[in-house]
Amino acid sequence: MNGGVRCDGARRAFLGLGSNLGDRWEHLRGAVAGMPDVVEVSTVYETAPVGGPEQGPYLNCVVRLETDLSPRALLELCRERERVAGRLRRVRWGPRTLDVDILWVDGESVDEEDLTVPHPRMYERAFVLIPLRDVAPDLVDEIPGDTAANDIVSVGPLTGTTGV
Ligand code: ATP
Ligand code: MG
Ligand code: MG
Repeated sequence: MNGGVRCDGARRAFLGLGSNLGDRWEHLRGAVAGMPDVVEVSTVYETAPVGGPEQGPYLNCVVRLETDLSPRALLELCRERERVAGRLRRVRWGPRTLDVDILWVDGESVDEEDLTVPHPRMYERAFVLIPLRDVAPDLVDEIPGDTAANDIVSVGPLTGTTGV
């Protein structure tokens, strides 16, 4: 585990993004445009909410970074992108303008009170695994349920964000 801001070399980090309040596309686009070291973005999927109160559908995607930022620095980045999108936390798993979670960082494992990497719930969530598979097929062996049963629909690329 790396407590500093940077490690010795760049490696893959995957962030999972979700939005179901306001201009969902713009929240995802703005978040990715403001991230360093982005090399690839999955297709965007519209997905039915899982858990939490009754709420509208999400747009989800996964971003691959090639970065030397530590997990802790990546968490700060996630929180900053959420802040910029005006996220409020009222209800656990409630509707949000933007959620950015660290899913996986090559070679890193963190188990702290406010940070767990890999993300402890990612392997239960088709709405995470389906976009993750687009950009990291080696990390996804199987998807629980199937795409139709999980109410997950591909809605196209998130263009105009990274210049890559
Ligand atoms: P879930 O984690 O089940 O997807 P959530 O994304 O809605 O739920 P948040 O309210 O966004 O939960 O985050 C609550 C806290 O979770 C964050 O402030 C952060 O400290 C902590 N956390 C722990 N591990 C991670 C991680 N891998 N990525 C992002 N946040 C994490
Ligand atoms: Mg989340
Ligand atoms: Mg979160």
